[in-house]
Amino acid sequence: MRTGLCFEKRLSLAFILLCLGLMQRTCPHCKSSNINAHGRYQRLSDGVRVARTRCLSCRRTFSEASHDVCFAQKKRHLNHPLWMLLVSGISLRRVSKVLRISRTTSARKLLFLGRVAKCELKESLRHKAKLECVEFDDMETFEHSKCKPLSISLAVESGTRRILGFEVSQMPANGPLAKIAKHRYGRRPDQRLIGRKRLLRFVRKLSKRNVVIKSDENPHYPPLIRELFPRGEHLRYKGRRGCVVGQGSLRGGL
Ligand SMILES: [Zn+2]
Repeated sequence: MRTGLCFEKRLSLAFILLCLGLMQRTCPHCKSSNINAHGRYQRLSDGVRVARTRCLSCRRTFSEASHDVCFAQKKRHLNHPLWMLLVSGISLRRVSKVLRISRTTSARKLLFLGRVAKCELKESLRHKAKLECVEFDDMETFEHSKCKPLSISLAVESGTRRILGFEVSQMPANGPLAKIAKHRYGRRPDQRLIGRKRLLRFVRKLSKRNVVIKSDENPHYPPLIRELFPRGEHLRYKGRRGCVVGQGSLRGGL
């Protein structure tokens, strides 16, 4: 129940952000503030009674729900369980099976929850003091096939590991797959530099001028950090080789 409430709070936060000032009671159709109460109705999807309002200028009706982020959702009660399952690393296919919904619904809800999470992140960063130390790294994954790799650049606050931002960029396959990938899917652009720049520019807005940036020894980082953080300090650490997940304390030879 507690987590449910927490989620409701999150949604209402996103709601406030997404509404961008629509909280003041105005007609969503003609923006008039000449409005009147117009009864209540029971929402089919969750049985909640919602107040309806009528605009006296354009005669159209609307309700509190018209401004809601969950507006027109028929399965809003699944938002929270879906969120919990997805953040636990369960696949969309499996989530659909567990919650007995179609894969299209879970895919749509994933996009919706992504927008909510983005608003939440933006809001949480707005009230933070300027950053003194940031950790930055890239990880690799793929879309559809290993022949179509993706790079995810991620920046976190040092110490707290709070996520500051991330960018997903396409990159060409390398190693033994490079030839096969080129043959099957043609030339794949390398957008890693653009993605990293975009992320670091965003981080720059949140940081102090003399921010400390920690990263691994990737040779592409120093020129980029020198360019974007001329007064910052760049500390590089020898990266450990990535290893199989799920080995707990065995990871990294600890
Ligand atoms: Zn109106």
